[in-house]
Amino acid sequence: MAEAAVKLGSDAAQAELTDGFHLIIDALKLNGIENIYHVPGIPVTDLGRMMQAEGLRVISFRHESNAGNAAAVAGYLTKKPGVCLTVSAPGFLNGLVALSHATTNCWPMILISGSSEREIVDLQKGDYEEMDQLAIAKPLGKAAYRILHAEDIGVGVARAVRAALSGRPGGVYLDIPASLLGQTMDALQGEKSLIKVVEPAPAQFPSQVAIDRALNLLKSAKKPLIILGKGASYAQCDDLVKEFVEKSGIPYIAMSMAKGLLPDDHPQYAGAARSLVLKDSDCVMLVGARLNWLLSHGKGKQWGEPFTKKFIQIDIDPKEMDSNQPIDAPLVGDIESVLTMMVKGMDGWKKPSEEWTGAVAAKSAENVEKMSGKLMSNAVPMDFHGALGRLKRIFADNPDAVLVNEGANTLDFARSIIDMYKPRKRLDVGTWGVMGIGMGTAVAAAVETGQPVVCIEGDSAFGFSGMEIETICRYKLPVCIVIFNNSGIYRGTDTDPTGRDPGTTVFVPEAKYDMMMEAFGGVGVTARTPDDLERAVREAIASGKPTLVNAIIDPQAGTESGRIGNLNPQSVVQKKK
Ligand code: ADP
Ligand code: MG
Repeated sequence: MAEAAVKLGSDAAQAELTDGFHLIIDALKLNGIENIYHVPGIPVTDLGRMMQAEGLRVISFRHESNAGNAAAVAGYLTKKPGVCLTVSAPGFLNGLVALSHATTNCWPMILISGSSEREIVDLQKGDYEEMDQLAIAKPLGKAAYRILHAEDIGVGVARAVRAALSGRPGGVYLDIPASLLGQTMDALQGEKSLIKVVEPAPAQFPSQVAIDRALNLLKSAKKPLIILGKGASYAQCDDLVKEFVEKSGIPYIAMSMAKGLLPDDHPQYAGAARSLVLKDSDCVMLVGARLNWLLSHGKGKQWGEPFTKKFIQIDIDPKEMDSNQPIDAPLVGDIESVLTMMVKGMDGWKKPSEEWTGAVAAKSAENVEKMSGKLMSNAVPMDFHGALGRLKRIFADNPDAVLVNEGANTLDFARSIIDMYKPRKRLDVGTWGVMGIGMGTAVAAAVETGQPVVCIEGDSAFGFSGMEIETICRYKLPVCIVIFNNSGIYRGTDTDPTGRDPGTTVFVPEAKYDMMMEAFGGVGVTARTPDDLERAVREAIASGKPTLVNAIIDPQAGTESGRIGNLNPQSVVQKKK
C-alpha cells in the first residue's frame, strides 16, 4: 500500500513539467534576487509578467538605459547582482550603457536579454531584431553567457551570479534566445538542475607580510592620509572602517560615493582641506579607491609633485596596483578581511602628530567658515550656493534620505556642500562622470532602501532620463526631484554667432519641468527663492509623494564643465571672417 502510494506520487511528479520561463524565475529566486528592472517587449513580455506573478518585484521602465542604471546601482546598494531584463537588439543595446557603467564602477549586475534564434542569427537570415548579442556584450562586462537548453538554466544563472559578485564585482550578460523560454522538461529534474551559489564572494586575506609592510609604512609616516572610496562603502563593513580610521587617528577624505561612510562631520574628516592633504601628505592609504582621473592619477602639482609620496592600497583586484603610481604596500584582498588584520596589528598605535592633524583641522575650519556665508545667500534668481545651502540643512535633518546627484555645476557644488551622515546615501555619476543615471538611480534607491530619495539634478542631466518620472508616479515612489534649472548646459547664456539657431548649450528658458510631473499625477512646484525651495522639498519628504521642484537658477551662475573644464580641448585657430 505504502509502496503503491510512493510509486503513484513519483509518476504524478514525472508527468509534471516545467519550462524555461519558470526555471529562470526559480533560479533567480534561489539566488536571492528580489527585484527586476525591466522594459517589456518581444520576446520577454510574458517572462516579466510571470516574474511578477511569482512574487518577484518587477519595475517596468520607459527606456532600457534607465532600467539598467537602476539594476547597476541596486547591485552597489545591496551587494547582490542587480538584474535588468530587456528585449532583443535595440533594447539590448540600450541596456549595454548600464552594463558598461556597472563594470566600470565595479558593481554587480546581470543584464538578461531576449534574443533571436541562433539558426537565423548565425546565417544572417534577417530576423526581427536580429543581432549577435553575445559577441557584442562580451567586451563590455566581466563575463557573457548564452543558455540554449532548459536543463542549462541552473548553470547559466549560477555562472552569471558568481561572475558578477566574485573578486572585483562587475556587469555580466546573459543571453536567452526566445525558444529557450518555451522549452519544457520534467519538473523534478528541472528543480534539481538549479544551483544556489555558495559563497560567491569569499573572504580574501592578504599575507601577514603584506600587512606588516603596510603597517610599518603607515607608522613611519609623518603626514599620513586615508582616502575612502566607493569600494569601501560597497564592502558593507562600516563599523570596521570606522574602527580602523579612529584607531589610526589619521585624517581621511572620502571619494564622492564614499561620503557618509563615516559621517561627514567626523573630526578626522578632511574633505574641506582636500587640497592641503593631497599636496602635503607623505603617505596615502587608498581604501577601495582608485588613482584614476578623479584623483588626477595621483600626479601633478595637486599631489605636491615633484615631492613624492608613499602609497598603500587595499583592493580586491591585484591588477589595480601600480596602475598610475607605484604602490609601495599593496594589500590585495577584500576590505573587511584586510582591515580586520590591520586593526589586529595596531595595538599600542601611535596617532599622527598634533602638528599634522592640527594643521588639517585648522584649514578645514577656515574653508568651512569661508563657505558658510555663501550658503546663506538669499539672492533671487537663486545661485547654486543659496539653493544648496537650504538643501544641506534638509539632509542634516533627514540623514536617512538618499541623495541622487548629477549635472556639472550642480554635481560639483552639491558634492562639496551637502554632508552625508550614513553609508551609501550618496549616489551619483560614478567613475565615468556619466550623465543620465538620475531617474534610474532614484527608482532603485527607493525600491531597494524604502527611504525617501531626493535627486539634485542639473536641467540637462535630468533630460537624459526625465521620462521615468512617469515610472516614479506609477509605482508611487517617495522621490523628490529638484531640478537646478539654469536654462542650459553649464549656463543658459550661449548664443549662435550666426543668429540662426539657439546656442548649442541652451534650452527653452525657464522650462516648466514641474508641469511634466503634474501630467502623471505627481506634485509639481516652481521655486524661485531659497524659502520656496526649502518648503517644497521638506513637504515632499514628509508626504512621500512623487514631487518635482523646478528650482529656477540664475542662467549666469554656472561655469563651463563645472570643475573639470580643464578636460576640454581648446582650438587655437582663429577663423578669418
Ligand atoms: P572611487 O570612485 O570612490 O574612488 P572606485 O570605484 O574608483 O572608487 O574604486 C573602487 C575600488 O574598490 C575598485 O578598484 C574595486 O576593485 C575595489 N573594491 C570593490 N569591492 C571591494 C572589496 N569588497 N574589497 C576590496 N576592494 C574592493
Ligand atoms: Mg543647467
